[in-house]
Formats: sequence, structure tokens, C-alpha cells
Amino acid sequence: MSTEFEGLVALVTGGASGIGAAIADRLADGGAQVAVLDLNPSGTPHFGVECNVADDASVRSAVDAVVRKFGRLDVVVNNAGIGAQGDISANDDAEWHRVLDINVVGIARVSRAALPYLRESPAAAIVNTCSIAATAGLPQRALYSASKGAVLSLTLAMAADHVREGIRVNCVNPGTVDTPWVGRLLESSADPAAERAALNARQPHGRLVEAAEVAGAVAYLASPLSGSTSGTSLAIDGGMQGLRLRPV
Ligand code: NAD
Repeated sequence: MSTEFEGLVALVTGGASGIGAAIADRLADGGAQVAVLDLNPSGTPHFGVECNVADDASVRSAVDAVVRKFGRLDVVVNNAGIGAQGDISANDDAEWHRVLDINVVGIARVSRAALPYLRESPAAAIVNTCSIAATAGLPQRALYSASKGAVLSLTLAMAADHVREGIRVNCVNPGTVDTPWVGRLLESSADPAAERAALNARQPHGRLVEAAEVAGAVAYLASPLSGSTSGTSLAIDGGMQGLRLRPV
């Protein structure tokens, strides 16, 4: 059992499912008191707070609820996000605004509500869940890729703005992760088993990324083990980005 988060309080947005749930479990395993902010937090074993990251009042009241419950806030994991498929013609303006509002502005909302508390923490860290889509040029993911490209630049800008305040900001860039989200996409195909096999074969290491592998990277970036690291993005993609491979 690790203890790197002993005495610290963490919040994870979108922590009721998939990658976020694995992150919440990993931080709790390391000794953190963990709050999960999610549209539907009912299934989480952690302190669940109903929250819509696209709604500023909802975010402010959720962050305040976490601090009322635990008395402090040290780690913020901005993980909530939604997908979008197709080229630039596939989504209308309303859908572009909706996805960017959740995936990008949501991070700004949660982080600015948390900043006053993070400034009081001796171990303040923000970790954003970005994606390989930020830099890969994924086909048929125009809106999603644009949103994650913005997450990457927002991470760098936040890191620069807050490094002197002792708040580190980093992101993780997962490849294709085996989560309910990917499961739903596979189920909607004609032959889910064959589609899954093909998806595995497209990964450099021959399989989907595990949510726990992303959680391990987030735990590193959120903990004092990475106390001199800010403004970085860590790829968890079987080597796709580092080896300059293309997910097509
Ligand atoms: P998921 O659908 O399994 O879980 C997402 C969670 O976010 C859900 O619990 C959902 O209720 C919550 N959520 C959605 N909109 C919200 C909102 N407006 N406010 C609060 N909570 C909200 O998805 P996942 O696969 O675990 O993805 C999590 C993050 O990882 C996303 O940011 C996604 O872009 C990113 N990501 C996923 C993959 C992948 O292959 N699954 C790859 C790279 C990056």
C-alpha cells in the first residue's frame, strides 16, 4: 500500500466511470481523501458530488462542498470529457460549442474554483486528462481533436501562470483506453468482437490501454514524486506518439 497522498484531498471530475473511476481509486489507494464530481456520482465508493462541469454555479458549489467536507483541497484531476465523431461537417455549431464547453471550458471552471484552495496547499497539483487526439491528427475526430488540442495548450498556459504559486499543472495523453465509452462505440458496430480485435491490432503494443495504467500516470503527476515537473504531457498510448506511429 502506497502513502504518497496521505493527508491530502483530491477531486476527480468524471470520476464515476472509466478512466476517472480508476484515477479516484488509485488516489484513494495512495491515502488521499477523494471526491468525485460527476453528472451521476451515485455509483462511486468515494465522496460523490453531483456536478456538471459545463455549469459554473454547479462547479462552484461542488468545489465548496468538497472543502466543507474535507477542510482542504490539494489535487484536482480534470478528467470529465465527452467524445465527438466525424469530420468538420459532421457537427453543427451547437455541438461544437457543447463539446468545447465541457472538454475545455470545464477545465477552466473547475480549476479557477479550486485555485484559492490550491494556493493554500503545500502539495498542489492539477492533472488534466488530454488525449493522443491533441497531436495525432485523428481521422474523423475533428471536434474532439480540437478540444483536446486546446486542453494541451491550456495545460501549458496554466502551468506557466501558477508555477510561482507552487501549483503544478500537467496532463496525460492516453491512446485508446478500455472504458465504457469505447465499449459503447464497439457495441454500436456490426461485429463488436471483430471490431475489438481490429482495434487491439492497431495499437503498437497489440492491446487497448488499461484505465489503471492512465491512473498510475496521473498518480505520479499528482504526487510529490513529480514535485519538479510542470507543463508536461505524458503519453500512455503503447508508444504511438513517441514512435511517431499513426492511429489509422
Ligand atoms: P466515460 O464515458 O467512461 O466516463 C466519463 C465520465 O465523465 C462519466 O462518469 C460522465 O458522467 C462524466 N461526465 C461527462 N460529462 C460530464 C459533465 N458535463 N460534468 C461532469 N461529469 C461529466 O469516459 P472515459 O473513457 O473514462 O473518458 C474520460 C476522459 O478520458 C475524457 O476526458 C476523455 O476524453 C479522455 N480520454 C478517453 C480515452 C478513451 O479511449 N476512453 C482516450 C483518451 C482520452
